[in-house]
Amino acid sequence: MQVQGWGGYPAIEAQVHWPAQRSACAALVQAGSLIPRGLGRSYGDSASAPRVMQTDYLDHFIGFDPATGVLVVEAGVSLREILELVVPAGWCLAVSPGTSYVTVGGAIASDVHGKNHQVAGTFGQHVHWLTLLLGNGDVVTASNTEHADLFHATCGGMGLTGVVLTASLQLQRIQSSYLQRTTYKASCLDEAFALFEAHEQASYSVAWIDCLAQGKNMGRSLVKLAEPSVTGGLDFSLRQPLTVPMHLPEFCLNRWSIKAFNSVYFNAARANRTEPVPLRSYLYELDSIGHWNRIYGKAGFVQYQCVIPQADGLDNMRRLLAKISASGAGSFLAVLKQFGAENQNTLSFPMPGYTLALDFKWTPKVAPLCRALDQMISSIGGRVYLTKDALLDAASFRLMYPHWEKFEEVRAQYGAIGKFASAQSARLGLQ
Ligand SMILES: Cc1cc2nc3c(=O)[nH]c(=O)nc-3n(C[C@H](O)[C@H](O)[C@H](O)COP(=O)(O)OP(=O)(O)OC[C@H]3O[C@@H](n4cnc5c(N)ncnc54)[C@H](O)[C@@H]3O)c2cc1C
Repeated sequence: MQVQGWGGYPAIEAQVHWPAQRSACAALVQAGSLIPRGLGRSYGDSASAPRVMQTDYLDHFIGFDPATGVLVVEAGVSLREILELVVPAGWCLAVSPGTSYVTVGGAIASDVHGKNHQVAGTFGQHVHWLTLLLGNGDVVTASNTEHADLFHATCGGMGLTGVVLTASLQLQRIQSSYLQRTTYKASCLDEAFALFEAHEQASYSVAWIDCLAQGKNMGRSLVKLAEPSVTGGLDFSLRQPLTVPMHLPEFCLNRWSIKAFNSVYFNAARANRTEPVPLRSYLYELDSIGHWNRIYGKAGFVQYQCVIPQADGLDNMRRLLAKISASGAGSFLAVLKQFGAENQNTLSFPMPGYTLALDFKWTPKVAPLCRALDQMISSIGGRVYLTKDALLDAASFRLMYPHWEKFEEVRAQYGAIGKFASAQSARLGLQ
């Protein structure tokens, strides 16, 4: 069957295995090279390979202590399933990406970040320990103190060190499933940066940015901050999302339709007000539209997410936006966030600075554009996020992820080479 990431590009032919339980995984690993896969929410080819191990059936809850908020689960459990269980008990995930349709294994392998990186770090920083199936069929426990090198290579290691089977997570206490959200309108990039800097201690912050606006409006944004609420109750009920029923025809999405959408979205927003919103809708805004990726048509799209270091961040972000805006290829889903401190994980993405994520509908012009952006990003000491990537080349990867040799050493030490590989790892020149 064909496998592909959330962006739909590239699609590759694969043999897909669905082990029914943890004990069935070792034989599959020993039979030949493969890549583990969760819910396929990574955008490019990190969960694609000629042999794929789907973790759908590794979806058991193993233990939850409502007094301490320590949860032990199998790796195929989704963040959504966790929230349905723990929010009514007054707990929440400490770090969540922009969708809840992500497995624990996928969240660890990408070391995902949320809208609170500057205060909470990444997902891996809230993992007490994990168990990992190695290439020789052994299972080891890894944590900050046990097989620490393996733990730090696995968090952010894109499935290339082994298969995460189970994990122990530290949840965060909440008094309500609501947040108090304040929206500000920034008429240009300088104002957006100033808002982020003035609210550095905010519990959550994110900006929606119009990446097609030019001139004095370049970088105009809606900056959305949020603080935990103490009222509103504890509920995380599942709503059936509206779904985009099929791939939209190519002509629906073009520079003009995106520009029009961006203008309406920006102008219609109610600014300078604080209001209670369910954490579900602040943290996972896009989950309310099922299969929204189909709006890009059958050819799919590429999401480009990079981080720009703090020093000269505003100037460099201006240069980046100018390049994107001039290309005319920008999307209506551009997101700007501030990052806090880097962590110890070998290939983790965040570093102090600013991250921009946007979609490019797939056309042959996208590859050269991304290559030019990669060159700019690596020349200023930034990096591209591997879980979104479909195009990065080996030379740029090595510049952006200077600990890649250490990563390969740990993989060699634990027998991962020749056992765990993806279309992405081959492109990035990993063994
Ligand atoms: C709408 C949307 C919003 C998003 N927002 C954010 C965001 O705000 N922040 C952010 O950081 N990310 C974000 N993402 C990306 C997403 O969080 C990551 O790609 C995540 O890894 C996807 O998890 P998954 O279960 O779908 O894994 P997959 O996409 O199936 O796999 C991703 C990687 O994890 C590996 N993997 C999966 N399961 C295992 C396992 N059991 N053991 C070892 N490796 C495994 C795979 O090999 C692959 O390398 C977003 C994605 C979408 C679609």
